[in-house]
Amino acid sequence: MEGKRPVCSHCQSRAVYLDRESGAHLCSRHLKESVESRVLSRLMQEEPLPEIIGVAFSGGKDSTALLAVLASLKERIPSRLIALTVDEGISGYREDTIRHAKDVCTRLNVEHRIISFTRLYGRSLDEILKSSNRKACTVCGILRRRALEVLAEEEGVHLIVTGHNQDDHAQTTLMNAFSADIKKVFAGSGSTSRFARRIKPFAAVSEREVTLYAIVSDLFMDLPECPYAGEALRGEVRRLLNRFEQEHPGSMRNLARVEENIRARLHNKVKKTPMETCKVCGWPGSGDVCQVCLLLNENVAITRTDLQT
Ligand code: SF4
Ligand code: ZN
Repeated sequence: MEGKRPVCSHCQSRAVYLDRESGAHLCSRHLKESVESRVLSRLMQEEPLPEIIGVAFSGGKDSTALLAVLASLKERIPSRLIALTVDEGISGYREDTIRHAKDVCTRLNVEHRIISFTRLYGRSLDEILKSSNRKACTVCGILRRRALEVLAEEEGVHLIVTGHNQDDHAQTTLMNAFSADIKKVFAGSGSTSRFARRIKPFAAVSEREVTLYAIVSDLFMDLPECPYAGEALRGEVRRLLNRFEQEHPGSMRNLARVEENIRARLHNKVKKTPMETCKVCGWPGSGDVCQVCLLLNENVAITRTDLQT
């Protein structure tokens, strides 16, 4: 069949995607519809939907695609959308992604709010890392999570959607299995914030579909990679799973579902440690001083008024 281009299994348009598990080819319109219907059905589990939905929006391809999906569903979702961006202050990387983020919001006509580490913590991530021995992504992850929560609270957002896709889930499932730490399976599920719940509407959408969605929506941009990136284990797991998926289509999807199933079945049997209130900033956390305050105390003076509300 050399030279013959595959056509969509639903119409006669040129196919842009092959679902290797089912063998179905999809054109750009049917790929978009398929992604949108999975996101919509995940969101409908949250009914009644809140007045405002906050989209954790880094400007990267996953969150860009998620914002585009939600914008395209605006007739069917009554909530107002706000894109929430955290500017960590990473020189040579964040400038481009923030510019792209602003451009995407303008094109999609979505409100955009940005919070920076400098405003919240008094220093950029680059500056904080100069006097920290911890891994960049650990520091960034802890501080970014809080920054997003502060921004959500400022904007009255009670539901945050994040762009984590099915591949991310599968990788995390395997990494949790490797670490044999059952607590990690339950960490991050449900609410860990005092204000907003987080959900992942792309949990059943593969990374390839997410990337293609951004491309066919003409919103994909090849952006620089964070200079601190390189979580060695995740990278290895990613390569391993991609190879495995190639030979055994559907493995990624099944792996991503496993943890959900375990959580659902053990939901009432696993005793979760209740959150404590940080005695420095008043936010919920584990221990009497939260991770953010511990971390900031290591190398910067805590700007308490910024952290307290
Ligand atoms: Fe932060 Fe690490 Fe992501 Fe860079 S790669 S933005 S340091 S979590
Ligand atoms: Zn604290």
